[in-house]
Order: sequence, then C-alpha cells, then structure tokens
Amino acid sequence: MDYDTRMGEIIFHNTMGGRKEPFVPLQAGEVRMYTCGPTVYNFAHIGNFRTFVFQDILRRFLRSRGLHVIQVMNSTDVDDRIIANAAAEGVDIRTYTEKYIEAFLADRRALSLEMPEYIVRATDHIEDMVKLIERLAAKGFTYVSEGSTYFRISKFPNYGKLTKLDVTGIQAGARVDVDQYDKADARDFALWKAPKPGEFFWETRIGPGRPGWHIECSAMAMKYLGETIDIHSGGVDLAFPHHENEIAQSEAATGKRFVDYWLHAEHLLVNFEKMSKSLGNFFTLRDLLAKGNKPSALRFLLASVPYRRQLNFTQEGLQQASSSVERLRNFAGRLRSGKFPAGISPVSEDAIKAERDFEHGLEDDLNTAQALAAIFDLVRESNTAMDHGEFRQGDVGPALHALEIFDRIFAVLEDDDAQKLQALGLGSEASAPDHEIEVLVAERQAARKSRDFAKADRIRNELAGRGIVLEDARDGEIRWKRK
Ligand code: AMP
Ligand code: ZN
Repeated sequence: MDYDTRMGEIIFHNTMGGRKEPFVPLQAGEVRMYTCGPTVYNFAHIGNFRTFVFQDILRRFLRSRGLHVIQVMNSTDVDDRIIANAAAEGVDIRTYTEKYIEAFLADRRALSLEMPEYIVRATDHIEDMVKLIERLAAKGFTYVSEGSTYFRISKFPNYGKLTKLDVTGIQAGARVDVDQYDKADARDFALWKAPKPGEFFWETRIGPGRPGWHIECSAMAMKYLGETIDIHSGGVDLAFPHHENEIAQSEAATGKRFVDYWLHAEHLLVNFEKMSKSLGNFFTLRDLLAKGNKPSALRFLLASVPYRRQLNFTQEGLQQASSSVERLRNFAGRLRSGKFPAGISPVSEDAIKAERDFEHGLEDDLNTAQALAAIFDLVRESNTAMDHGEFRQGDVGPALHALEIFDRIFAVLEDDDAQKLQALGLGSEASAPDHEIEVLVAERQAARKSRDFAKADRIRNELAGRGIVLEDARDGEIRWKRK
C-alpha cells in the first residue's frame, strides 16, 4: 500500500507583515524556535496552556515533516511580583519559584507536551543579559537614570514594526520601569532595574539590580539559537510590548534581523473575556482535573480550535472534547480487535484521502479544525462500513495508519489518563466521585452486553488506574470498591 500523502508547502501566518507566507527555515532541515514560557509566580492556567499546546502542535508538526527542531523555552523566574511574593513568604526567589517550575513541568507531562530541547531560567543567565546590555550601551542605545538602565527607543527607527505601532508621538526619555505595561504606550523600557530599598539584587558590572523582563528572552534566544532564528511565538498579548522590545534590543545589538516568523496564539476566553491571573477568572489544569476531567480531553479541546481563533472555554466544550477522544479511542480499539472478512473496500481509499486532507489542514497555518474533520470523516465512514459488514481486513492497516498520523500531532489516543492523574497526585477519590464511577461501571456492563470487549477492558483498566476494583456478585450485578 502506498502511503504517499503528497506533502505540500507549509504556510504560516507571520505577525511581521500580517500575512500568510511559505515557511522556509534558515538552514535546510532544521528549525530554531524560541517560545516564551511562563512567569512562575503561580500555577499556569489553562489560558497559558492554550498557547503552550499550540506551540506543541507546531513543534510536533515540524518534526513530523522530518525537520530537526531546536526549541528553547524560558521560565521568567524574576519579576516585580516574584520579588514581592518571595519577600512576603520570607524565602529567596529561587525557593519561591521552584515549586511553580516543578508544577509547570508536571502539568506539561499531563498534557503530553513534548519537552523543548532547552528549558531555561532567567536567573541562570544574568551574565548573558549584562553582556547584551553592555553591547547596547557601547552602541549608544542605552542611558542610565537613578541607577537603572533604559533602552532609548528614539535611537531605533524601526521600533513598532511588528505590531505597526505609531511611535511618532513618543516622548524622548519617557520611561516605564514596572513589569506591567499600558497597552500601546511605547516608552523607553528598563533593561536593568536598580533595587528599591531592601529589595533583592545581583551585584554586576552595570551596577546592583535585576534584569527587566524583555532582556531575558533576547539574551537566551540568541545564546542558544544564534542571532537570527526561524520562529518566535507566544500569546497575542506578548506582541506588544514584549516582542517589540525583544526586536529592538536584539536588532540594535547585532544589526541583524532577529526572527523570520512571528507566530501568535489568540486567547482563551471565559465568558468571552481573556482568561488571566490578574482578572482572577482562571482555572488551573489541576482545578479541572480534580473535578473529574481528563487531561486528554483538555489537550484535545485546546488543540482542536486553530490557534489564530479565540476559544471561549466552557464545561460543555470540554465534555464534547472528552466524547471526541472516546470516539477515537473506541474506533482504534474496534480496528485492533475486530475480525473482518478478507479483502479491501473503498474505505482504504478514504483512509489515504483522510491522511492527505489531515496534512493539508496542518500545512495551512496549522488549521487543526480542518485536519480533525478529515479524521472524523474517516471514523464515520469506517464505522458505517463496519456496521454494514462492508469493512474488510485489508482496510485495517490504512485506517490505523491514518490514526497514527493523526496521533503524532494530537497525542490523545493512548489510554493513559488514569496514570497521568495519579502522577499529579489526583489518582483516586479526588478525581473520581462515586457517581462517576457508577457511570463507568454501567458503561462497562453495556459494552460487555454488546460484546464490545475491547471497550469493556479499557474501562476496567481505567477504573483500576483510579484505584477501583470490580467484583462480580452472585446476582449477576457488578460491585465496586476502592483499593
Ligand atoms: P505568562 O505566564 O503570563 O508570562 O504567560 C505565558 C504564556 O501564556 C504567554 O505566551 C502568554 O501570551 C500566554 N497567555 C496568557 N494568557 C492567555 C490566554 N488567556 N489565552 C492564551 N494564551 C495566554
Ligand atoms: Zn519572551
């Protein structure tokens, strides 16, 4: 069987220029990509994970095309809030941020996010940032005021080119030195901040203090990936000022283009408002899992809406995502355990077409909705053919192959939610209230009655993963208990 999916050109929407462009990496066969990571003063919320799942889909897709991806993700482990919160708890900032970094890594595993080649902390790169600031100072792009060093925007005529910000009215010397910025207000930003009395600081060649937020990403991106990189990404809220400032710092220092492709994910919303820590309208991954939701359902939900579309989060949406994952897993189970008459049917052709359409969807700026539609068409056609006895043994291979292609990117087919919950310490009662177990037990009974033993076994395993033991009682009823 020929599995040629006729792979086409990859097109990405580049925020720089504001249009879709063919993706051509700087070095053939290799992609250097920087992804802005979390500020670790709290647990990441599922809005943050909307962007991190998008970055994972991007990474997996590039890898599936045989490209060697080198991805760097930072942890912002120093900023105003971190310094203030650590001081309030009476611990150093490293101790304060450690638990959130650990939690972030554990959450990433639960959502099947592949590990970037480098996950790096700002506080391990102070010397790189100092060097970059010295380089900017030597070229006259900085000035010092009250011990802090600022970037002089008026010296960089291209400032604002990413978000097409109008900077004609910018006042020379208007400074901003907090970590939270006003929207669309371009001002000289702090590269290095002098400590306030009693505040934690590093003693360096450019004076005592700590780095501004933006300089860390420029310094770490260039350290690991070189002065010009292929892809830089984050949520849309990062385009201004964070990414404008990264461009200014990096390009002023090197005289070279910093990034070829800028990709920005639209926000996750709740009640049509941006989910954010400061608005307080957020859920963490653990909040949702503790209510009995599955990690695979959340991953599927976050991945299924193309990244440049806003996604309004609802419990019903999550429920639907859960059913979709279940449907796909059941289909894979039916393919693996079913017995079909010899030969092949037109479903084999459908499977090849599904693969091709799946790839075409992703090639078009990661249109995950279109890619998914292709796979669900195949599931529907195959299930119908099976129900009518028209599905043939020879169709199993092509259909499974299409699922494999799908799962390289979506990564939800493996039935490992129970283990993932356990790894987060949410293994048993917290994630499995009685009524939910009863539903699963009943579903298993129904599956056995309809002789769908693959499904019945899967449910038994899932229950076992949640610490539930099943017993066949004499009256034909099934009883369950917690281990
Ligand atoms: P932060 O921890 O605030 O530095 O954010 C980490 C990442 O999450 C950045 O790429 C943000 O742009 C992104 N982000 C924050 N809120 C949302 C949201 N509601 N939806 C999607 N991405 C978000
Ligand atoms: Zn960044």
